[in-house]
Amino acid sequence: MLRVIVVGAGINGVAAAIELNKRGHRVILIDPGPLPHPLAASTDISKAVRAAYGADEDYTDLAERSIELWRKWNAEFGAELYHEIGVMFVRRREMKPGDFEYESFRTLERRGHKVQRMNSAKLWKRFPAWNPELFRDGVLELEAGYAESGRVVAALVERAKSRGVELRSGSRFARLDEHDQRVEGIIVHDEERIAADRIVIAVGAWTPYLLPFTKKFFRASGQPVFHLKPPQPDLFVSERFPVFGADITTTGYYGFPINRDGVVKIANHGIGRELSPESPRGRREPAQVLIMGVSRARRSANRLHAVVHVLRYSRWEFLDRIRSGT
Ligand SMILES: Cc1cc2nc3c(=O)[nH]c(=O)nc-3n(C[C@H](O)[C@H](O)[C@H](O)COP(=O)(O)OP(=O)(O)OC[C@H]3O[C@@H](n4cnc5c(N)ncnc54)[C@H](O)[C@@H]3O)c2cc1C
Repeated sequence: MLRVIVVGAGINGVAAAIELNKRGHRVILIDPGPLPHPLAASTDISKAVRAAYGADEDYTDLAERSIELWRKWNAEFGAELYHEIGVMFVRRREMKPGDFEYESFRTLERRGHKVQRMNSAKLWKRFPAWNPELFRDGVLELEAGYAESGRVVAALVERAKSRGVELRSGSRFARLDEHDQRVEGIIVHDEERIAADRIVIAVGAWTPYLLPFTKKFFRASGQPVFHLKPPQPDLFVSERFPVFGADITTTGYYGFPINRDGVVKIANHGIGRELSPESPRGRREPAQVLIMGVSRARRSANRLHAVVHVLRYSRWEFLDRIRSGT
């Protein structure tokens, strides 16, 4: 049995801690907390879970295994943390060999997945929030969906504790404890030394700041994520509004159906802006929570600024009804 310290209790750290514990090791899990940490990448309300990765068979293979595990976790936790409501990647133009959507469609079809090609007006009628004039083709992967990411981390933290993982929430890794070119443990913020046989560092976007030698090859970046409250929530329920990517390789836009709190999340996938996770510029400000449908008079200056920013930035017309609802 090894004594292992896992630094960071996002999805990677907490999953690693549970797995190491299952393999018979003594595990200490360290995170400044609170958990799930509000600034961790794992904490937001939703994350897409899909096997559509273009022609990338390795990724598709990993995703297939993960989807099986998500179903297993739903059964084990007795809660629907993963929602298998479908994921679609759609385009304005007909998809052709070499396009992400086309290659995803072909790869998934070849591997026996349930997929539909989104190239008929009849199919689009199922999704009334979408502008039917604009989107003509794409792939709908039926056995995919999204995980309630923050809830998942919370559930796994509880599971780790119940299995006997020693959780030190409130403890902040400062540096490795190194002697004679050997790592013997870690030093936390109050200079306490914690010895270990092995150390797993799973600190996500904090990595280049906590392990400066990784700056040569890691860069932390921030990407815009918007939480919208549409005035016509019915249009965005998962039966009529699956997880989507809209011309994702050129616009970067993707999003999720309405969640239990009435929020539709739309985000942009791209290279983002270099940003430390603790930078005040990256904080979740009220401006990022756009309350759609409120009268102009009630919008604060911040919110209005954010709306203008979103509309300019996003060529928002892919969601016809959201646009007319603002
Ligand atoms: C905007 C966005 C959207 C994404 N969308 C998707 C998606 O749809 N589907 C998908 O599969 N993936 C998605 N990802 C990727 C996915 O969220 C990440 O790969 C994953 O959450 C990373 O988890 P992690 O545990 O490595 O890091 P994190 O979740 O960031 O966790 C790092 C942990 O380290 C802790 N920590 C920080 N400093 C210290 C310290 N000094 N000592 C100890 N602990 C510390 C933090 O408190 C935190 O709990 C997205 C990522 C982002 C940013």
